[in-house]
Amino acid sequence: MEKEHSEEHSDKEKKKYVLEYDREGCIGAAACAAVSKNWVISPEDGKADYLEAEFSEAELEENMEAARSCPVNVIHIKRKDTGEKLI
Ligand code: SF4
Repeated sequence: MEKEHSEEHSDKEKKKYVLEYDREGCIGAAACAAVSKNWVISPEDGKADYLEAEFSEAELEENMEAARSCPVNVIHIKRKDTGEKLI
């Protein structure tokens, strides 16, 4: 019988993390966009927008870097399963 592959879908690919972003507070410093492909600057108002709200382990580090680099700390990241706030 054909083996079910969903279980094997590596943990690395699962979208385990979710962004919390306070766009109001963004000052358009663009530090986030400089370090992560998930962050882009809106041509409309110069504030940052993310492309994917949820992401996997593989994209965690660059999003963490974006959050760390933000001078006004408006980017936060949570684990979806436990709700633990990573930054
Ligand atoms: S680093 Fe922070 S303030 Fe700067 S554009 Fe990104 S979210 Fe906005």
